[in-house]
Formats: sequence, structure tokens, C-alpha cells
Amino acid sequence: MARSRPRTLSPARAARLRPLLDRLDAAVDRAARVSADPVEFPRAFPDPDDAEVAALVAVSLAYGRADVFKPVVARVLAAMSPSPARFVEVFARAPAPGAFEGVVYRFNRPPDLAALAAGAGAMRLRHGGLGARFTALFREAGGGPAALRPALAAFAAELRDAPVARGLLAGRGPRGLRHLLPDPAGPGASKRWNLYLRWMIRGPDAVDLGLWRGVPASALVVPLDTHVHRVARALGLTARRDASWRTAEEITAALRRVDPEDPVRYDFALCHLGMSGACPARRDRARCAACVLAPACAGGAPPRASDAPRGRSTPAGTAVRGGPGRRRGAARRGARSARGRTSSPARAPSSR
Ligand code: SF4
Repeated sequence: MARSRPRTLSPARAARLRPLLDRLDAAVDRAARVSADPVEFPRAFPDPDDAEVAALVAVSLAYGRADVFKPVVARVLAAMSPSPARFVEVFARAPAPGAFEGVVYRFNRPPDLAALAAGAGAMRLRHGGLGARFTALFREAGGGPAALRPALAAFAAELRDAPVARGLLAGRGPRGLRHLLPDPAGPGASKRWNLYLRWMIRGPDAVDLGLWRGVPASALVVPLDTHVHRVARALGLTARRDASWRTAEEITAALRRVDPEDPVRYDFALCHLGMSGACPARRDRARCAACVLAPACAGGAPPRASDAPRGRSTPAGTAVRGGPGRRRGAARRGARSARGRTSSPARAPSSR
């Protein structure tokens, strides 16, 4: 565990950062980015009941590379079609063995997916919706930012511990389901859970769905992945190296100074700044010189005259430069951009 004093963003720094983040956010090509993001699955369902279930399926499987897990999500949702909400409710009453036969993805097997569907169905039948249940748990925990984590932990436990879900795991054990629905009370940053809440609570806008109106966006915690973590460290929003809940909270606290009502509003732009390679893992003076965040970024070293970009730059600050070596680099960055949100390499894959 890294030992560092919590970072605080001074009002002056927060005021400097906000217009830069706004410029970054405005430059994101949302249509293109959403098509590379698992949020495209729930966005395909106009019925809010279907969208909250499709989102749970998509986010639970959103580990590893997006180009690998997205076909798996598509297959699971095809099995639940045309209405994931109705499917899980019927499934919770009478689970159909073999509904997800042949769907295997890394740590997960068909019984895990059946248990996930059954748990979601049981919660919907009992409480009227996943959002209704989460909102009630959030209020029971006191509301406000401090209530988010305990409410989320109770929500995850209730999904996992539904008797019908447990029954489907006889002979398989709970480990696979626990990987799909991890415990937010644990030390990890619970990236996928916080991403689910961002989708459900923020907005509606071009990315997030804004379906759960009873929980304020001000309570959200940033979904901490390796891209957001790296950019946040470069911006001085945290000095912590571990991909923990505490690090996610520290980054959120800094972003709350930029926008107290909506601290995760820049998460999509920051994540895609890293994913696209515009803010690469290895410091690149030329890219920093072209980056809109450079004036407020401690990680962006002042550019030298020789680093000035010679080609075009996108509004987001991605310099486009010639030469075969640079084209190979751009191709590698393009391949990386096809990947999904990944947890920090500081965490073991099995713990994600
Ligand atoms: S200035 Fe450089 S290090 Fe900072 S966010 Fe931009 S590209 Fe990343």
C-alpha cells in the first residue's frame, strides 16, 4: 500500500483545470468512442428496465480486452432477447438449464451467468427494479458520498446471495459469480461497479443513461482503470500507485473540487485520453506539448522547441505525424484503443 498524504486540489488549481477539462471533454468523438465501449449495450435498449439489466450483464463481463469480451456480452444478451428484464424475471422463477450453454469467458462459465441472471431477476421481482433496490439501500446507508460504498456492497451481496442464484451454483461454487459481482467492501477500486453506477446515475447524455434518478451524481466515485489512474497521476490528482478504492476516492475528491455536483463528468474523456494513446504510458514530450491539459499537468514536462509538433493535431491533442516508425506507433496505439477499460496493472488479473 502506497503511503502518501491525500492530494487536495487548491481552488486556484481546480479553477485552472476546469476549462481545460471542458475542452478535452468537448473534443471527444462520443459516437466513435461509445462504439468501442461496453456502454453501447445498454444504450441499445430503449426500455429502462431492459437497459439496467443489459448494463449489469455488460459491466460484469467487462474485464480483459473489449474486442474479446464484447462478443461474449452480445451472446449473453442475445440469449435474453428481446427483453433482458422480462427474461431475468422469468428465469428467477423457473431457471432454464442450458440457457447460456457454451458461453465461456476466462473465469466464467454458464452457471455463473445463469446465477447472475437469476440474482438480477430475483431482485427485480422483489423490489421492482435494480435501480429501485440500489436507491433504497443508498438511502438506508444515509445518502451522500459516504453511503455509496456500503450501499453498493449490500447490492452486490444481495444479487450474489439470492437463493435461486446459489442453487444454480451447486457443484460449481461461488467463485465465478464473485468475479462477475465482486465485493465493493474489499480493497479493490471496484472499477466495474463504479462504471455501472456512472452509466445508471449520470446523465442522460451521449454516453451515460441517467436512469436512476434517486441517487445524486455528486455521490459517484470515479471508475478507476489503468488509463484514468495514469492521467490522474500526471495531473497531480493523486500520488497513489495502488488501484484501490482509496485511490479512486482521492481522485474523485480532487475532481469534486472541479465540479462538486458531478465529479465523474470527465471520466469518459480522461479514460479515452489514455485509451487512445493521446496520453501514452511512456512520457512523450511532443504529445504533452499538443495536449489541452498541459497547462495544468504536472506530468507534462515543458516542451522543448525541438518537440513542437510538425504535423496536424486533433482537438484532443493527438499529434498526427509522418514517417514509417511513427505510423507503426500509431497502429499500435490504435490497437490499444480497441481495448476496453482495464484495471491497473498493479492488480492481479484474477482479482479484477
Ligand atoms: S500533458 Fe502529457 S502527461 Fe499530462 S495529460 Fe496531457 S499527454 Fe498526459
